[in-house]
Amino acid sequence: MYLIAEHILTPKRGILNNYLLVIENGTIKQIRRRKSVEEKREAKEVQILIPGLVNSHTHLPMSLFRGTVEDFPLSEWLPKVWDIEKRLSRKDCYYGALLSLVECTRNGITTVCDMYFHEEEVAKAVQESGLRGFLSYGMIDLGMEDLREKELEETMKFLDYISGEKFDRIKATLGPHSPYTCSKELLLEVKRISKEKNLKIQMHISETEEEVMEVKEREGLRPVEYLEKIGFLSGEEILSHGVHLSEREISILSMRGSSVVHNPISNLKLSSGVAPISEMVERGVNLLLGTDSAVSNNSLDMFQEMKVSSLVMRSMGKTVPPERYFQMATSNAGKALGIKIGEVEVGYRADLVFLEKGPNLVPFEGYISLVYSANPSNIVGVMVDGEILFQEGEYLRIDAERILRKAERRYHDGIRSEEDKMG
Ligand SMILES: [Zn+2]
Repeated sequence: MYLIAEHILTPKRGILNNYLLVIENGTIKQIRRRKSVEEKREAKEVQILIPGLVNSHTHLPMSLFRGTVEDFPLSEWLPKVWDIEKRLSRKDCYYGALLSLVECTRNGITTVCDMYFHEEEVAKAVQESGLRGFLSYGMIDLGMEDLREKELEETMKFLDYISGEKFDRIKATLGPHSPYTCSKELLLEVKRISKEKNLKIQMHISETEEEVMEVKEREGLRPVEYLEKIGFLSGEEILSHGVHLSEREISILSMRGSSVVHNPISNLKLSSGVAPISEMVERGVNLLLGTDSAVSNNSLDMFQEMKVSSLVMRSMGKTVPPERYFQMATSNAGKALGIKIGEVEVGYRADLVFLEKGPNLVPFEGYISLVYSANPSNIVGVMVDGEILFQEGEYLRIDAERILRKAERRYHDGIRSEEDKMG
């Protein structure tokens, strides 16, 4: 397949104007300026081409109850969410995940990193959508041995499930929830399995001041210092939030090569605070970008995340250049996940997004336009492994209308009616 792009925005090589891309077997085989007459005739022409966006932290099934827990700080928000989650069935998780995946596809997200329960259902949904997924069963043991065993058993079942079935675009990861909800024993066991099976680890870290204090009281150290002391950090971990980090903790993360997922909108909405992004950029921490769930956001839109974070930094008198945000949403994630995605480069997977220049992208100023002006309405094509999943408003793999109908019915007949009964 041939693509000719007026502008290719690459995270590392800058902007390439009027290049030809040759895609074979889902991989980018060539990128060059020179084009034969035949190539020109056969090529699909696009105005703006970018690598697919990576949503590095989300809880996909939660879109099913988007908008139902509003205006609380995290400590009050979480028990309300847990109340709803107790009532979610496997099918709810499946349709909730599909609902999120329709939105992700439409918004140019080609890879999702997820943590939830009934994760097998999430895997089925991701597989059907055609997107790429790094999925984990979220484990919480609260220091209890029997709970720990049960959670590890669930994780092993999930790992078996993913390796046993044909999930070509899905990789299992390990998902200890956080240092304040997981015991040292659980974290060390996760570390051991990660080494033995070569698996990435997804975990929440230092989202609120309270949880930092909780770990400090229990362990005498701040969360990242504690993880360092027990030998947990080795660069395989993808840590979400990192809102409350000391300078020393930032140094540790940089030294260990740990990746941190910035979730600016969720952090603002849950009054968690503002992550020290410019400090982490300066210290060379590998930063990624995520939406978190649609209950604390309420969109799965990476353009909003890039813009909001950038504006919050500006409000504090700091500047993080737009190309940095673009890297967080693309190439930095590829690096953290250990696969060739997030770049437009020979040998990389053809996970690509095509945009058209609506009025908001004229004149076009590269990364500035992408971060400050672009939005999903500019997206006209989404491709994973060279397969087009979304084109000119049409979903080529999934029946989006049916998914939206099913999700709405599950919300009204299940979650909503239960809420009504409870008054
Ligand atoms: Zn989360």
